[in-house]
Amino acid sequence: MSQQAAMSQQVQPQQARAKEAQPQQARAQEPQARQPRPEQARPEQLQLDGMPRRLFMCTPTRLTTFEDCPRRYRMTYLDRPAPPKGPPWAHTSLGVSVHTALGRWWDEPLPRRTPARAAHLVRVNWVDEGWRDEEQSARWRERAAGMVERYVTGLDPAVQPRAVERQVATKTGLLALSGRVDRLDERDGELVVVDYKTSRRPPGDDDARVSTALALYAFAAERMLRQRCRRVELHHLPTGRVVAAEHTDESLARHIRRAESIAADASAAAARLAAGQPPDEAFPSRPGPLCSWCDLRRHCPPGQAAAPARLPWAGVADDEPADAPVPPVG
Ligand code: SF4
Repeated sequence: MSQQAAMSQQVQPQQARAKEAQPQQARAQEPQARQPRPEQARPEQLQLDGMPRRLFMCTPTRLTTFEDCPRRYRMTYLDRPAPPKGPPWAHTSLGVSVHTALGRWWDEPLPRRTPARAAHLVRVNWVDEGWRDEEQSARWRERAAGMVERYVTGLDPAVQPRAVERQVATKTGLLALSGRVDRLDERDGELVVVDYKTSRRPPGDDDARVSTALALYAFAAERMLRQRCRRVELHHLPTGRVVAAEHTDESLARHIRRAESIAADASAAAARLAAGQPPDEAFPSRPGPLCSWCDLRRHCPPGQAAAPARLPWAGVADDEPADAPVPPVG
């Protein structure tokens, strides 16, 4: 069995990243502030004396969710049945549409890898959810088609990436990591992680360097494909801005340690919950501005008090001031 096949058997993806998130069809409407019952939560990982340590299975999104808000983590990954989420977001639909089109563009035969074909792929893969109305959806579909068309104009269609929409997975002493990389380029004998962004605001200069998710992808890709992978890049489609970082052994190790530390905290919280600690103590809420964009806000009184609700299309609103709050993903 290949290393990759072995990994795929050991590591099951837990939850798509926001950019991978599929639009949610016909989500049920639930009463406000329904609290998950403690007995619905189950421990993610418990250490039994004398037994080999079980690895913490996770994606970068799972770790980030715990870091951002333990309560949200519990509701997303532990409570079963999972509390229903809010309605789909237009900015998520935009991201999914663009990612799908860019992924499929590389599946086209070389003569059809044209900018016009890229725009066409946006249109036929458009996710029509979360928009205010048909007019807004159509306007953003054409805007997205234009941004993808411009983006691929800067690519050489003959230079096939090493992988597109590639699932990567690996293990550390504590983690069984998995995740999906938008694109893995091969340049000068090394792999490069490329992550597409469609957020309203372009990434900052440091965003690629400080991203634990990108570092984990590089780490996993290098191990899986047995090829050095130290460069990570954020490609912001709306502006064409590319923000890159070159990792070293030390910086990768730092991100791994950070990921393991978050996983250890999440594991410890799950163990406390299993031992009877009240859910809101084991997994406290962390209210703040991001609560506006939380899919589980309806089940969280502290989050409702901390930040106003946003309309599903607020994340792409083009008539708001530049300093208007923006969703955290994309
Ligand atoms: S609304 Fe805010 S505090 Fe509540 S779960 Fe979501 S992110 Fe956490």
